[in-house]
Amino acid sequence: MRVLISGASIAGPALAYWLHRYGFHVTVVERASFLREGGYGVDIRGAAVKVLRRMGILDSVRAADTCITGVYFVNSKGKIEGQISEASIANQQGLDIEIMRDDLCNILYDLTKDKINYIWGDSITALHETEDAVEVHFTRCKPQTFDLIIGADGLHSNVRALTFGDEEQFKRTLGCYISIFTHENYLNIDHRQLLYMIPDKTVGMFSARGNSEAKGIFLFKSEALNFDRYDVEAQKGLIENAFEGQIGWETASLLQFMKESTDFYFDEVCQIHMPKWSKNRVALVGDAAYGPSPLSGQGTSLAIVGAYVLAGELKASDGDFERAFDAYEQEMRKFVEKNQKIGLMAAGGMIESSKFKISLRNLMLRVPILMNVNFKIITKIVAKAANKIELKDY
Ligand SMILES: Cc1cc2nc3c(=O)[nH]c(=O)nc-3n(C[C@H](O)[C@H](O)[C@H](O)COP(=O)(O)OP(=O)(O)OC[C@H]3O[C@@H](n4cnc5c(N)ncnc54)[C@H](O)[C@@H]3O)c2cc1C
Repeated sequence: MRVLISGASIAGPALAYWLHRYGFHVTVVERASFLREGGYGVDIRGAAVKVLRRMGILDSVRAADTCITGVYFVNSKGKIEGQISEASIANQQGLDIEIMRDDLCNILYDLTKDKINYIWGDSITALHETEDAVEVHFTRCKPQTFDLIIGADGLHSNVRALTFGDEEQFKRTLGCYISIFTHENYLNIDHRQLLYMIPDKTVGMFSARGNSEAKGIFLFKSEALNFDRYDVEAQKGLIENAFEGQIGWETASLLQFMKESTDFYFDEVCQIHMPKWSKNRVALVGDAAYGPSPLSGQGTSLAIVGAYVLAGELKASDGDFERAFDAYEQEMRKFVEKNQKIGLMAAGGMIESSKFKISLRNLMLRVPILMNVNFKIITKIVAKAANKIELKDY
């Protein structure tokens, strides 16, 4: 079977790997001219760790772990007001992994680049489905015919829009916007994350790649904003507006770094909820189908597991792709729902609506017993959701 996958971030290359291993002919088309850089640390836990082991890349992924030792909440002068220590950030069993999103992309790409046909700088413009195949039109390449089309093209999936219609039907906003960018580690922070919270806004910094660089983050609550997803300068302007007049902690310096950054990422924090993830010869995987939001920390794990299950069911169904798509959905649905709930819970933790709530949280984080109990509960909920699927051996 000839399969076309749209999107080369996490879900796309992971799915390409498994499909190729099972004997499918796979092409991946990516809109960017090469692997997109950027992003914060993403978490891999539970069933997703097992999938990476089965792919033979668990050791290389672990070797690229960010090794962050704690999250520190600072005030406007940079004084630490509260902290979440290493033992509490959900990886005390040494099971979870946190890796820079683009490091993981690179590992998945290296694993597949010699076996998979990657098309860069192109995008699907139309899908014409017949009984036997799908004729695909591209922005640049000539039309080609495939048996199956898989959208692994993220929250604002192009394949989803072409097949299922407008994204607004499926998007659930969490009421805030996020921006991430790389900058110089000018404070020499050492394997730490620093967060400065003011009502409805959070500014952060995170040491990355052995402290050789840092990632900046701006997060803010807002009414729905109208913006062009491809106009980076306009998006940078939205952040400047949102943080105008804020001079506490490192906000001014980070705004300057943000303006100069070349791997700037900006998006609305939202989830995708769809009643069905496939239609005839087209299916979706990862954020395109069930994005739980970047604040959930579960998007990457869902994408890795989703790719494994979708490819496995396609193999098991021996050509009956409709049966495979139904089985994929049956296996994944509960797992996805549990993890999307984590996203809703986590959104509240990264941004607070009042000075009182910020002070209360910092106070709580200074009482070790409260902190430990709180994080033990959270860890347990997250671990349970991350393992809420029994992986079949396809
Ligand atoms: C640049 C970037 C930075 C991110 N940073 C973070 C982060 O800091 N924290 C976090 O939790 N999550 C982040 N995410 C999201 C995270 O990668 C996903 O939640 C998760 O890993 C699932 O991945 P995915 O492959 O399903 O979707 P995504 O990672 O969103 O990848 C979708 C891919 O599809 C490509 N694409 C989009 N439109 C088209 C099109 N028309 N044709 C072909 N290809 C297309 C995109 O360029 C991208 O490579 C980021 C995503 C991106 C793209």
